[in-house]
Amino acid sequence: MPAVTVDDLLTLPRIDTPASGAARPRPVRSVTTAPRAFEGEGFPVRRAFAGVDLAELDPFIHLDQMGEVEYAPGEPKGTPWHPHRGFETVTYMLDGILDHQDSEGGGGTITDGDTQWMTAGSGLLHIEAPPEHVVLKGGLFHGFQLWVNLPAAQKWNPPRYQDLRSGEVTLLTSHDGGALIRLIAGELAGHSGPGSTFTPITLIHASIEPGAELRLPWRADFNALAYVLNGRGSVGPDRRPIELGQLSVFGAGDTVTLAAGETQESRSPKMDVLLLGGQPIREAVAWYGPFVMNTKAEVLQAVEDFQAGKLGRIPALHDHGNVDPDTDPDSEPGADADADPDADGDRPGRTA
Ligand code: MN
Repeated sequence: MPAVTVDDLLTLPRIDTPASGAARPRPVRSVTTAPRAFEGEGFPVRRAFAGVDLAELDPFIHLDQMGEVEYAPGEPKGTPWHPHRGFETVTYMLDGILDHQDSEGGGGTITDGDTQWMTAGSGLLHIEAPPEHVVLKGGLFHGFQLWVNLPAAQKWNPPRYQDLRSGEVTLLTSHDGGALIRLIAGELAGHSGPGSTFTPITLIHASIEPGAELRLPWRADFNALAYVLNGRGSVGPDRRPIELGQLSVFGAGDTVTLAAGETQESRSPKMDVLLLGGQPIREAVAWYGPFVMNTKAEVLQAVEDFQAGKLGRIPALHDHGNVDPDTDPDSEPGADADADPDADGDRPGRTA
């Protein structure tokens, strides 16, 4: 049972379908397939943004679908302690349990439908791992982690941690009750979600019933992205096919259209979609491993600061792993080997 569910969708506030005459439907610019990889200590992910230009994703940087995977006892994995600077990580669980702890005292446990929103800002260390009882038992693990960039003026903000419980998420439905819309952050048709963001964005997890169409008003100054977490269907006015593990980038317009196919797999009876929109920051991006800055000099400074222990210390009471300050932050387990510090904006393709 993924995330928050509702027995009777018709009890929820409805989002009116924008009149097709007045609104410009956003065309589909591309549909790309996320390659599979491993992250952290070896958990399976799909790199949702692979192959898409950062300018199309702006203000988003990186998206990993974590799982879906059914772990055997002893198999569940997380990340070791590692640093971040210059952006925000948003982690959402559909199924399973993940603990988070950071060097600023932030932390918590997230499970079905909860979100942890960590603003790395000027920098910190953190660890993300399943709790011990989950490691022992195994089980279903499914979620995503999204990286949201910060504008230059806010990259040096002090770190912040927001725990968004599933019960706080704003629940809405479409005009005919054919979709559950979970508004996690930002605004949609006058409703707002609980997440507080520095960069204006809208973040939605929608579950669309087989055969149902979802047409949503979308701010014209936002970009629009849809990533399919489960199931199959179509995107855009021309009903371009899309399925699990694929990302659609929409062009300009006022509405976003998605439809779930009539037939779905029995183990995922609905089409689950992550819908993202944000106001592009339009600044230079220098990204190296866990640091997302504006210039190469700032990235090198982040590496030096991390090596000098200036991004924080692992809390003494915690016995999970260790950060070795002599270790290049990009050589962390699970990191892809394609990081290129000489290429500004080149994407190392790693999360943790
Ligand atoms: Mn991390």
